Order: sequence, then C-alpha cells, then structure tokens
Amino acid sequence: MPKRKESASSNSQGQSKKAVSAPPEVEDAVEMPENAAGEDLKLEGEEDEVGEVGQARFLGDPIPVEEAKRRWPHRYTRGQSEFTQARGHYSNAEVDGVVFSLDDEAYVQAEPGKDSYICKIVEFFSAVDGSLHFTAQWYYRAGDTVIQSCTSLVHNKQIFFSEIRDDNPLDCLVKKINIKFIPSKEIIGFDPKTIPTWDFYYSKKYLLPYTSFVNMPSDDETKSQESTSTISSDRETSSESHDPKNEISLLDLYSGCGAMSTGLCLGANIGGVRLVTKWAVDYNQYACESLKLNHPETEVRNESAEDFLHLIEEWEKLCSSFSLSTKRSSCNEMESNAKGGFNSKKAEEEEEAAEDDDDAGDSEIYEVEEILGICHGDPNNHGKSELHFKIRWKGYGPEEDTWEPLEGLSDCKDKLKEFVTRGYESKLLPLPGSVGVICGGPPCQGISGFNRFRNKEAPLEDPKNKQLKVYVDIVDFLKPRFVLMENVVDMVKFAGGFLGRYALGRLVSIGYQVRMGMMAAGSYGLPQFRMRVFMWGALPTENLPQYPLPTHEVANRGVNPTEFEMNAVNYDEGCEPTLKPALFLKDAIADLPAVGNKEERDEMPYTLDPESEFQKFIRRRRDEMPGCLVLGSISPEHSLYDHVPYRLNQDDYDRVCQVPKKKGANFRNFPGVRVRPDNKVEWDPDIERVYLKSGKPLVPDYAMTFVRGTSSKPFGRLWWDEIVSTVVTRPEPHNHALLHPEQDRVLTVRENARLQGFPDYYKLTGPVKERYMQVGNAVAVPVARALGYSLASALKGSSGSEPVMKLPENFPFVPPPA
Ligand code: SAH
Repeated sequence: MPKRKESASSNSQGQSKKAVSAPPEVEDAVEMPENAAGEDLKLEGEEDEVGEVGQARFLGDPIPVEEAKRRWPHRYTRGQSEFTQARGHYSNAEVDGVVFSLDDEAYVQAEPGKDSYICKIVEFFSAVDGSLHFTAQWYYRAGDTVIQSCTSLVHNKQIFFSEIRDDNPLDCLVKKINIKFIPSKEIIGFDPKTIPTWDFYYSKKYLLPYTSFVNMPSDDETKSQESTSTISSDRETSSESHDPKNEISLLDLYSGCGAMSTGLCLGANIGGVRLVTKWAVDYNQYACESLKLNHPETEVRNESAEDFLHLIEEWEKLCSSFSLSTKRSSCNEMESNAKGGFNSKKAEEEEEAAEDDDDAGDSEIYEVEEILGICHGDPNNHGKSELHFKIRWKGYGPEEDTWEPLEGLSDCKDKLKEFVTRGYESKLLPLPGSVGVICGGPPCQGISGFNRFRNKEAPLEDPKNKQLKVYVDIVDFLKPRFVLMENVVDMVKFAGGFLGRYALGRLVSIGYQVRMGMMAAGSYGLPQFRMRVFMWGALPTENLPQYPLPTHEVANRGVNPTEFEMNAVNYDEGCEPTLKPALFLKDAIADLPAVGNKEERDEMPYTLDPESEFQKFIRRRRDEMPGCLVLGSISPEHSLYDHVPYRLNQDDYDRVCQVPKKKGANFRNFPGVRVRPDNKVEWDPDIERVYLKSGKPLVPDYAMTFVRGTSSKPFGRLWWDEIVSTVVTRPEPHNHALLHPEQDRVLTVRENARLQGFPDYYKLTGPVKERYMQVGNAVAVPVARALGYSLASALKGSSGSEPVMKLPENFPFVPPPA
C-alpha cells in the first residue's frame, strides 16, 4: 500500500494531526534509558486515567528488554536510524484518551478528505530519538486493491489483510475498531448482517505479486491437510466425489475448437490428475464440430453462453423436482408448469390441419416416444426464449423430431422423468457443486483496439463486453472448485483496466481466491509471442493454483501495460535459470510439404521427416502425446490435416508473387515505393505506377496509408528465423505479415495451428476461413498445458504458497507422479 507510506512519512514530517504540537509530556512519558526494563516513568495511576485530547503516550511498564529483543531483534541492532532503533517496547498506549493495545485493530489518520486507514497494531516502541511509534500491519479496503473502481462489487465491510507493515507516529492512531476474521470455509454465503456490531470482516490476504487474494495462512494449514486427500475425498456438495474414476470435470465456456481445455487436460494428466472436459459451450457450429471430432467424451453444446446459463438454472430445478438434486426443491413450480396443457407445435399443426381438412375427422394423437435433448432458447422462432425438449414421436423417425416447450409435456411426465434421471446420471449438464473446473475466455470485443466505438466510460454496458458478466454468473451459479479465465491484455489496459478489475472483484465477492498473471506463448516453446491474461480462481477450500514459469527464451518480449508489468509471469530479476532456446518459424513448420495458393486437399501425406524436436513432438500420435488419456489403445497414424491456405484472389496472388523471398520483404519492396528516413513510405516520383493484369495497381493505396505509412506488415513475408507476434483469426495479407517464407501463399491453417501448439492429430472442421478463426482464437496449447500442470499441483496439495512455480525439467516429458 504505497499510499500508506506517503501518509506515514507526511505525518512524521509534521503534517499529522498533532505531531508538530506534541506536548512535552508525551515525550516525558516514554523518556527512559535503554535498559530501563521494569522501570516505569509514568505517573502513579496514569494508566487508567482517561487521557487528555492531544496526548499520545505509552502506558504501563515497557516489555522486559530480553523479551523485546527476542520479538523485535531488528529494533535493537546498531546501524538503525534514530527513528527505527528502539529504546523500549510497550504493550499499551493512549492517544487522545483512547487506550490501544498490541494486536488491536484501529483507524489511522489519513490525508484530509480520505477514509481513515485500517491497521492491526503489531508494535509499540519508543525510538532512541525519543519519538513514539506504532507499527501498523495494514488492511486494504477493496478500493485500495486492484479492484479499485469496482469496489461496489465487494461488501463495504469486507477488507483484506496485507503483509505490509510500516512505522508511524503514535499520534496517528484515531480509534479502535472491531474486525472479525471469517475462516475461509465460511466465507461463501457469509452474510455480513450476522455481525452488525463489527466494523469490518476479512477472510483473505491481498498480496501485490500477481494481484492475489488468498486465504490466510491459518486457513492454509487446515486446507492443505484437506486437499492432499481432495481428489478422492468426499466433498459434501459435490456429486463428483462419487465419481468412481476419480475424474475432475471441466466445463469449457466459449470453447472454440477446444484448445484451452485440451491443453489443460494434457497438463493436468501429466501432473497426475484425471481432468476431463465433460462439457463445452460455443455458439459457433463449426467450432463445436471441431471440438466434438477431437473429444468424443465431451458434451458439446452449440448454443450461446446466455442460453446455457438459463438452461443450467432450469436443469437444476428439474433435477430437484424429481428429487434428484436436493439443493432446491421446485417440485411445485414444475408441476404447475407441466399442467399447462398440450399446446406444442405438433398440437398447433394438428389443429391447423384439422381446420384445413374437414374430412380429417378425429384429430390424430401424437404420442411422445422419447425425449432426446434439452435446450434453452427459441428453436421454433416463436419470439420467446424458454426451456425446450427434443421429442421423438411415436411412429415417426428422426426427421420428424421437434423441439417442444415444457408446458406441452404435461401428459408425459414419466418420459420427462426418465429423461431427467438419465441426464442426471450421465451428467448431461453440470449442476451446482458438481464441476471441478471452469475454463474459458469470455470474448470482450468491446475493448478490441480495432473497435472504434469502444465505450470507455461504461465498458460493461457495451453489449460486446456482456459475456464477462455471463461468464462470472455461470461461475457464481455452479461454484466450480477452480476457475481459469483467459483474455486479451486489453482487458487490463482498456478504460483503466475496468474489466479486469470487475472480473477479479466479482470472483472475490463470491468468495473465490484469485490472482492474475500474463503469459507469453513464446515462453512455453512456440515461435509466437502472444501475451494473454490468465486469472486463476479457487474456492476457499482449495489451493489457489500457481503460474508455471517460462521454460523457453522468447525473442520479443513485447510491451506490457505499465500498471500490470509485474503481473507478467517470469522469474525475479537475477534469478532466471538457463532457459531452453527460443523457437523460430523454421523449427515449427519447415517439415511441411509445399502447397500452392489453390491447394484443396484437407488431408495429405507427410513427405518429409520431422527434424526439430518440436516437429517430432507435434507429429506424435494421439496416444503418444504426454498426458493423453487414451491409454492402452494405439491411435491410428494420422495424415497431415488442414494444410490448406486461405486462397488469395488473383490480384493478391499476383502481388504476393512479387514479394521477394528474403527476410523482411513486404510491399515496400515493390517498384514505385520509397522509404523515407523517418521510416514512412512514399511514392517514388521517378517510377511509373505498376499495374496488375486485372488493371488494379500492384501497390494498393491502403498499403501506403496503413498506420500512416509506417507499417511494414502489408504483404509481409515471414522469415525462417523469426517469431510471429500473434497468430490472427483472419488470414489477411493486407495488414498482417503472414506470407510463407518461400511459397507464394499465406500460412496454412496447419502452419498456424503449429504456431499455436495444436498437436498435428487435432483435425479441424468447417470452411477454411472458419478453421483459421478457430486456430487464431485459441489459447496456445503449451500455455494451457503448463497451466494444467499447475492446476494438478494445486489439486494434489503440492503447490507452494508462492504465486509462481517451476515446471519439471523436460516438461511435458515427465513420468506421471505415483
Ligand atoms: N478458448 C478457445 C477459444 C475461444 S474464442 C480455445 O482455446 O480454443 C471465443 C469463442 O467464443 C469463439 O469460438 C466464439 O464462437 C465464442 N462465442 C462468442 N460469443 C459467444 C456467446 N455469446 N456464447 C457462446 N459462445 C460465444
């Protein structure tokens, strides 16, 4: 709390409420020889008197000098300043007539107009120069932490203990207050109204490194005992504990094609924890298809996260209505819904048909054979989003399946019960308390640097940023044991970092321990820089996972937002071990066969042997991949998938063919373009403009004006010894350098996938543009894998209290721990 230091020093410089006018008696009261243990210079009876306003003094005997030296040895060593070297320590003091004792909590005078500071008094001492001090260990209000402007999310009585201590003039103490410690186990669902007479409460520490909110050490002791047996132990609220396979379930929100959860599971499994992606949610159909193709074990939900949230809320009610989940009984609600009568689409159609056809006679009765699925939404475009069930009708085939609202199913409660029971048993959908981990990155397009209409004043009101709220709402409802949220660095840059503060504040407000780090993909063995924010959250009953430290050098460190510079996951300065050398484009893609701009094959054979370690690793079969759970069975050899480039139109292709095949080449090498000494491009007046066969200019105007003529990106060729700054979602050569070093085309989907660390066996589906999107959107697999390993360490109780950890030598090649 740096502000505090200012306050303390300004006080000692005479700006405190009384420091300048401290009456001589105050000094008299503590004036005593260094070895005055036991001698009391106070006046008889002084201790119990109410002091006068304007007085600050110690009361009672000094603490025996031997004890004081033992407890605060640094105060008695030579070489201290006259303000910090102690003459004696005390247990009690009186300021303005108020008696304070060691370990009391108190308000401390702040600058005019500001709320008093809050501290625990951990030392009372008189310095050798005669001045009187107390040492404060500070509490943070939410507004003093990283949460800052989002302070309203956190109850105004909740504060956070710190490890920061400093010395202050005794007369800065204002008032004694009551602060209640709530053990972390009790913080979820804690109601501050139950402690009306307490001024504040706390259950966590706030630590500046990686802006962490963590349990108090006293909690850690109980918790680590618990967590060593966590994986197999009974968690009262969790149906997971009854999982015979000891699996930890993962819900991947905004899953895309599943890179993040794939990496997390691989890493956790390497670390000896069976983490399995049970559910994934994404509204992009192709991304869902890709995920399903690679993860048949996952229930992939192709719907919006908003609908998914409504769905799981309704699912929980349904389960409890059939006495499957006891959390909340909504039997009555369900039954009254089900009594609403049959007015489904089928019935409506039936009525319409009957009206149309007078000869139809008695209308046909449609009978439900089976309920096949459930969703929340408006599948029939009736303008109303609600719970729907997929119905197979008796005597009809799958083509005739329809989606029906709940109220239409009053006559088939048995079928409904059957479906819900089956779904409950197979964990069709997650229930509160049954989820191990939620991962995902809620898209916040409203903060993208490319978006000119960003709402800086109220970023959360921008519908493009709404998903952040939906994400935390899902976490709040399901209360998973762990959360891992990913986002772009703009999250902590845009609008003063509001969205990052919001996410941390909300997670803290619902009881989670949290911390935030920024990781560069390149630091984990990729030729791509790609800095992203990762937020860990853990229930107070768990160990908060650490950040895995880099394993590789990375060529370009990029620029971090200054305020959060310290959140970049890295070794402390001077403590860096020898990291593995940085990877370059050549290491990642040089073994891939040459393909043309018009390549059409989605699958082809490999033609060259892998050379680099990276190539050998990435080409492994699924069952050879460390952490892969298809144990015991050998996966088929795979061919080379998705090695297709986005097809450039003829004009762009003609341009690309003219970009020299050398390092640093781009549109600036085209005839007619001249580079000024200030690195801006201009037209060379001596050269006539060159035109393509189509009549379009070779050098398009947009290339000349992009970033006011300063950019080298348009039609930029990558080179073998380079790293890519960020794999993008649109293979657009007009404003990104993404041409192959030696072939006249953009990098293929597979080449991009390699740069993101996708194993080659991971096959994608959908149109080529969609596959680029899936790859460009992904969390780099090696980053997720390293985080998965940290998660396993936390689950196994083997992670320390430090915010960062070192991955095993040779990770990911480590034998699974016994
Ligand atoms: N974590 C993924 C990448 C996710 S990219 C990975 O590592 O592979 C973000 C995804 O969010 C995109 O696939 C997009 O389709 C999806 N998305 C965006 N808004 C959504 C919404 N409202 N509901 C569900 N999915 C959404």
